[in-house]
Amino acid sequence: MSALLDLTGRRFGRLAVIRRAENIRGRPAWECVCECGDARAVSSSSLLHAGTQSCGCLCRERLSASAKVSSKTHGRASTSEYRSWCAMKSRCLNSNATGFDRYGGVGVTVCAQWLGSFEAFIADMGEKPTPEHSLDRWPDKSGNYEPGNCRWATKREQANNRKDNNVVVYRGRSVTVREIAAAAAVSRTAIVRRVGRGWDAAKAIETPAMRACR
Ligand SMILES: [Zn+2]
Repeated sequence: MSALLDLTGRRFGRLAVIRRAENIRGRPAWECVCECGDARAVSSSSLLHAGTQSCGCLCRERLSASAKVSSKTHGRASTSEYRSWCAMKSRCLNSNATGFDRYGGVGVTVCAQWLGSFEAFIADMGEKPTPEHSLDRWPDKSGNYEPGNCRWATKREQANNRKDNNVVVYRGRSVTVREIAAAAAVSRTAIVRRVGRGWDAAKAIETPAMRACR
């Protein structure tokens, strides 16, 4: 266990750290006051590693600014993509966000380039093909938000990815769990469960099942 780094008095963007707060999911957190006047608890890791810089007002402001700009100038500018970018960051970083339990709460992260820059995100992802497309982690649906593991997909494509075609990257190749389970050391369910817990695909596939205690 490492010693707790005291962040009292530090500033992170618009956030000023006031004092220690109750832990968030067992991890140290700090009571912060935002320049907009909102107060909230933010974890050490969000402040130090994830680039959290406001209570969420920064994202909201840029979103409404970009909506104004896009309605005036470019017809189909990046408002919808910007909203996706904000929502992605929010479900991974903001412990109060809807869905945090299934994202940030289980260790899903956003890569550093995308965290800090919407422009980097849009340069890698391009625009949504249609308004029906949303951001999907693929081929590794348990993986992180980063180049190479994200696509714009329709609801139907995402459902396929979830239901019968859990895809893992194994030895440099995208394969469905169903395909690989035939040759694996353990059952398909065990592979899905292990990968869901954050195991590397090769380890999940090759590690034999635990034997019951004798
Ligand atoms: Zn704020």
